[in-house]
Amino acid sequence: KPVVAIVGRPNVGKSTIFNRIVGERISIVEDIPGITRDRLYSSADWLTHEFNIIDTGGIEIGDEPFLEQIRQQAEIAIQEADVIIFLTNGREGVTAADEQVAKILYKTKKPVVLAINKIDNPDMRSMIYDFYSLGFGEPFPISGSHGLGLGDLLDEVAKNFPEQDEEEYPENVIKFSLIGRPNVGKSSLVNSFLGDERVIVSEIAGTTRDAIDTQYEYDDQPYVIIDTAGMRKKGKVYETTEKYSVLRALRAIERSDVVLVVLNAEEGIQEQDKKIAGYAHEAGKAVIIVVNKWDAVEKDEKTMNKTTKMIREHFLFLDYAPIIFVSAKTNQRVHSILPIINRVSENHAMRVTSSVLNEVIEDSVARNPAPTDKGRRLRIYYATQVAIKPPTFVVFVNEPEIMHFSYERFLENRIRESFDFEGTPIRLITRART
Ligand code: GDP
Repeated sequence: KPVVAIVGRPNVGKSTIFNRIVGERISIVEDIPGITRDRLYSSADWLTHEFNIIDTGGIEIGDEPFLEQIRQQAEIAIQEADVIIFLTNGREGVTAADEQVAKILYKTKKPVVLAINKIDNPDMRSMIYDFYSLGFGEPFPISGSHGLGLGDLLDEVAKNFPEQDEEEYPENVIKFSLIGRPNVGKSSLVNSFLGDERVIVSEIAGTTRDAIDTQYEYDDQPYVIIDTAGMRKKGKVYETTEKYSVLRALRAIERSDVVLVVLNAEEGIQEQDKKIAGYAHEAGKAVIIVVNKWDAVEKDEKTMNKTTKMIREHFLFLDYAPIIFVSAKTNQRVHSILPIINRVSENHAMRVTSSVLNEVIEDSVARNPAPTDKGRRLRIYYATQVAIKPPTFVVFVNEPEIMHFSYERFLENRIRESFDFEGTPIRLITRART
């Protein structure tokens, strides 16, 4: 999918525009308690075009001075994006900081579309003329707060998408990635996987902008490892920023079926681990928690249970993810990871029959009556699975507003008790029956 980045100095409305473009998607995704939502990356679509979008304003660059932050964000956009939306604020005219951004963007050959935000009504359109001076051609007036002009802007953005080369992997391939903070042992694990003598590496396939894909087979099952770690090691200026490696991880997640969230047993769990795992969950990917460097931990017979409990407490939203304790150094249990990948990948793509599903729902409602609101009770008519990867269910009801988060959670748990969805998130969408 093409990547679009929004760049601009602070306060021009980047995150408003980002949220507008991402649109409804966010509301489908459930909230994860305990995770601050700094949305800086999401999939989105416009008409028939699907793309990924980055809000570079969300990329914090340490304590650098203001101009340096803007510069680095623009550099990241140039590096990462196929099309750049250069956002400015129509009410303030062209500022020195806008000119700074422009100067950096002159360096790229990538298409830059200039958007002038806060043009909330047609009378204000004359305010855009000033912006021709930035040298990016016709400015597109938009209003983030009113949602105006976005269609024209996105038409222009989509016009500039590069030709897509499709990934040509076998139909039954399982694509997986290892994500985690630097030095948790991702590269070592990849080496450990590929070092197995029964592994047949068929191709170091596409080296995409942000990952190296290695295609291989094991027991007749084809896999692709999407490896971002190797790329990172090549080094680039902004890789000093942790957020930047996150961005890379997010893209790898996006392309994966299964995400291995790698933790370092020596260091315990950090906020960054939770954030990355949160993205995998939100992206609807199958997830396995891999605790690496288990060899380096001093342990007794209780350590594994204690660690499991601690991980469960930190990753409440990943209660479905299996946990495995490995050592890339000694290869301990590394061979057990593939069978788990196979299993969760199968669950991720599982379809259940409507009849059994509806029995489960009926039985659930009989045990725990549906919620009420202002004297009206939620009525569930029927449920059906509408998608896989992740399994997604639509529950048809009389009035969706009466559905309660906790009741959805209850239904989800009942569905999980009835079918084996280990390792995969599942989604419930409540809709009015029409
Ligand atoms: P990455 O940044 O996540 O790709 O991490 P690397 O694979 O580069 O590993 C970082 C460091 O941890 C290296 O010095 C590895 O040798 C070490 N390491 C990786 N896996 C293990 C392990 O299972 N046990 C121990 N003791 N060290 C490990």
